[in-house]
Amino acid sequence: MPAYDFTAPRLFVEAALAAGAHLPLDRAQANYLLNVLRRKPEDPVLLFNGRDGEWRARLRPSGRKSADLEVVERTRAQTAAPDLHYLFAPLKSARLDYLAQKAVEMGAGTIRPVFTRYTQGDRINLERLRANAVEAAEQCGVLAIPEIAEGQRLDEALDALAPDRLLVFCDEDAPVADPVRALRAAAGEAEHPPLAVLVGPEGGFSPEERERVRARPNGVALSLGPRILRADTAAVAVLALVQAVLGDGR
Ligand code: SAH
Repeated sequence: MPAYDFTAPRLFVEAALAAGAHLPLDRAQANYLLNVLRRKPEDPVLLFNGRDGEWRARLRPSGRKSADLEVVERTRAQTAAPDLHYLFAPLKSARLDYLAQKAVEMGAGTIRPVFTRYTQGDRINLERLRANAVEAAEQCGVLAIPEIAEGQRLDEALDALAPDRLLVFCDEDAPVADPVRALRAAAGEAEHPPLAVLVGPEGGFSPEERERVRARPNGVALSLGPRILRADTAAVAVLALVQAVLGDGR
């Protein structure tokens, strides 16, 4: 990763970014910068919008409650989101917030809720998922906000995956073996294949679901070790593994 300024606050904005642009801040953003972080006139703030890269801006307060930002120069070019889909069965809200944040930190490019037999609830707040994704991107320096995809039933989600996308199925019943070797073997010649990982709900997958997932041709059932992990732990573990073996960690 290029040299990165950890001292300046980073904000996601919707507006286009270009040198000389002036962006008014809303009340909450102005309050955050002026009164919570106690930033002073001319202090640097980093901005990104998911399209135009990262830009350094100067803070221009007008009183104690409002301010705008003057965009000065680009600090990093835009990067594409990794071609990695993270499919997960929704969990209860606090764990769900955590899960969305961790998926962004670990480099998921698409985050898709998948409803399975033992998933608790049958709806999900996509706005909240997106807010968590944006917050995580602001904190960890990711420039491409992952796509937050509509929820699908498991069979729909499997059908919607392109055949060349390697599906990594996190299955606590898969024989515990060498996961690095299993991933390499599943990818064949491809160094960076398009990827999807699938993590189940706290209640696990039903036998029929497991069979359905395993029947997909381009897939690998992966054990993450001899312990049963909570779904949010499994997410971080499998994303670290696939990024290290087949993704942007190598
Ligand atoms: N069936 C289980 C637990 C499910 S854990 C039970 O109730 O006993 C939630 C999800 O995390 C699983 O569906 C699986 O996708 C993933 N997971 C947990 N531990 C795992 C492991 N050791 N290896 C692979 N995946 C795991």
